[in-house]
Amino acid sequence: MSEEFERPVRGSRRSDDQARSSLLTIIEALGEATGFDVVGISGVRDDGYLHVLCVVGPDDAREALMDTLAPVDPLIEQLEVADDWGALKFVPHERMVLDVDKWGWISDRPQGVDPGAWHPENLLVAPVYGEQQQLLGVLGMELPRDGLVPVGERRTQVDMHVRQACRAVSAILERERMAEQVRLASAAADIVRRASGKMSVDEVLADCGSAIVEGFRGQSLWFHLFGEDPRAVVDDNPVEPPPEMIDVIVRYGEAGWQRQTVGVFAPDRRPPEPLSQADVDTVLGFLAGTGGGAESLLVAPLGAGEESLGVLAVTRAFGGAEWSEGETAAAIDIGRDLGRVLANARTFEREHRLVEELQELADYKTRLVATVSHELRTPLTSVVGFAELLRAAPELSDRSRTAVDAIQRGAVRLTRVVEDLLVLHRATDADIGEVLPLDLAPIVADAVELSAGPAAQRGITLTADLPEGGATVLGVAHELEHLPTNLIGNAVKYTPDHGTVTVSLEVLAGEVVLTCTDSGIGISAADQERVFEEFFRSADPEAAARYGTGLGLAIVRRVVERHGGRIELESDLGRGSTFRVSLPAG
Ligand code: ADP
Repeated sequence: MSEEFERPVRGSRRSDDQARSSLLTIIEALGEATGFDVVGISGVRDDGYLHVLCVVGPDDAREALMDTLAPVDPLIEQLEVADDWGALKFVPHERMVLDVDKWGWISDRPQGVDPGAWHPENLLVAPVYGEQQQLLGVLGMELPRDGLVPVGERRTQVDMHVRQACRAVSAILERERMAEQVRLASAAADIVRRASGKMSVDEVLADCGSAIVEGFRGQSLWFHLFGEDPRAVVDDNPVEPPPEMIDVIVRYGEAGWQRQTVGVFAPDRRPPEPLSQADVDTVLGFLAGTGGGAESLLVAPLGAGEESLGVLAVTRAFGGAEWSEGETAAAIDIGRDLGRVLANARTFEREHRLVEELQELADYKTRLVATVSHELRTPLTSVVGFAELLRAAPELSDRSRTAVDAIQRGAVRLTRVVEDLLVLHRATDADIGEVLPLDLAPIVADAVELSAGPAAQRGITLTADLPEGGATVLGVAHELEHLPTNLIGNAVKYTPDHGTVTVSLEVLAGEVVLTCTDSGIGISAADQERVFEEFFRSADPEAAARYGTGLGLAIVRRVVERHGGRIELESDLGRGSTFRVSLPAG
């Protein structure tokens, strides 16, 4: 064999033991039946090489031929000048242009001298076709035991045996292809099943990694999400890829996603576009040096829609199978499916982070409000107290008295805001504390009492219909009292002079229901959506003219929620409003 011809030798996906032994049985029987000493079968690989899968014959022939590779195209060209024997094609040595050194093994058996003698450089082969008439392999024969080129009846016999053998070989090679498709399809389904429903990128990658490596019969697996460091997901001995290798992979990944192609980096392959041989050498050089040494790499782009997200890269060990077309096609689909799942997981993570940040912000706001209100309370008490003292001083001029009045009014308002804020803050604590059975009727009666003065001053009829006991709820008294106080207070505040406010408390179907109805200014549909928000005050001029903090209904809502109840509002602008609070009866 010539020295300079390098046959890249590697395993075939058709090399599984069962297939090889079936092929071997067929060609052994064929050799016997036809009287040929050397019979071999090569499979066509996706990269255009013929790979010798099994050989029967003398040891030196077997050794020389097994697992060798030769390009398929020149053989096809050579067969154009072959004699057609039926299944077999015969090229006599004078017509051979193929370099036999590259194409087989030459016997050193002495050559016969008669005109029909077999010449060692003759070529006798039968192409093996699949169901779709695609070339699956080639069956080759050498060394007829009688030393003669078969003619006449013997040739017909040989050709018949070969035709039968080809059918059996075709079935085996086809079955292998099918088996590969089944393996890849089930790997792909497994990957998608494992990936969907996973919420974080890490979980997705960790869970799919082993399925991908198994499905692709790979050695190790890297994921590289753009903008992050590459991570080895399945690797006993992960080695950080050098920056120049990362650069090649990223360049390929982006282009690969645009073109929807998968890159195979292998010693005997053309560089995947748009990369150069130097790029491929960088990658292969690194792979050879990794733990255990890897020979080839499959790089599949990951993406979703227009966005290229990263790559997954599976390595194969030295002597591992070639990367088949079926595998590259499956890798594209997996990159697409996984890309979609990863994009979802990333969105989920981003949202989750955002919610956490918002939660932190809300906690900060709560703490800030609590601290500031506490800090304001003491000085405000002094301001109100001293303003009172000053007002009582007889030597005060009218101008000063007006100023002191304004100070006092302002301080009282401010005190109310601070108190509302503190109530709201206390009602924000997750733990409601100790709850006790409480009759709501006296609490509501106190609130009605409190508003009776202001209502009477403005000629508003305030009536209450309260049960004699039995309106018991489980709760905290100092929280529950804000419900009637705020609702009745608002009803009186937002009702024009001479209007009516009606309060009722009932026990209905296991619930204690507090209803407060007024004939006041009403609330627009748009405002109804927002009145329970903190600091919300209506922009309606009638409402805005009345003083308020915008915290009363926010307090009501929090307290109701903490007591497991609900609040409903019905209102018509200009006609009045009804607030209804329902709490579980205790
Ligand atoms: P405020 O201190 O402003 O009264 P609330 O939280 O108690 O704050 O109420 C929020 C807003 O809801 C008020 O500014 C007002 O516009 C509206 N509102 C509340 N109760 C009534 C009511 N009974 N009738 C009309 N509008 C009301």
